[in-house]
Amino acid sequence: MRDCIFCKIIEKKVPSKLVYEDDKVFAFEDINPQAPMHILIIPKQHVANITEVKDYDLVGYIYSIANKLAEQKGIAKTGYRVVLNMGPDAGMAVHHLHFHLLGGRALHWPPG
Ligand code: AMP
Ligand code: ZN
Repeated sequence: MRDCIFCKIIEKKVPSKLVYEDDKVFAFEDINPQAPMHILIIPKQHVANITEVKDYDLVGYIYSIANKLAEQKGIAKTGYRVVLNMGPDAGMAVHHLHFHLLGGRALHWPPG
């Protein structure tokens, strides 16, 4: 989608630190990491947010990739968090569905 920063990252028109890519999803390092490991996992098809999702299998697939990446990065045993921000109160800033994979330190709860 035009004017979507994450679509531009998928198309490699905007640089990113690629972590994982397949035909359905793209994962890259967050530019402003909130933990030693902070990866964004996004669908390649532009979907604005979770309320716009038509294919919930895709959401399950994204979770499977999050688990796989956590395993690969060595944080599966220590623990990790997968976060989705929805709307202004949650601080959602980019309107292309994305899941934050955070780990590598003890994560506070409640998240604030
Ligand atoms: P959210 O607040 O859930 O919308 O999160 C958006 C996330 O995208 C933030 O954690 C930003 O740091 C991250 N972000 C924005 N632009 C870029 C970019 N060009 N490359 C990597 N991460 C980005
Ligand atoms: Zn997009």
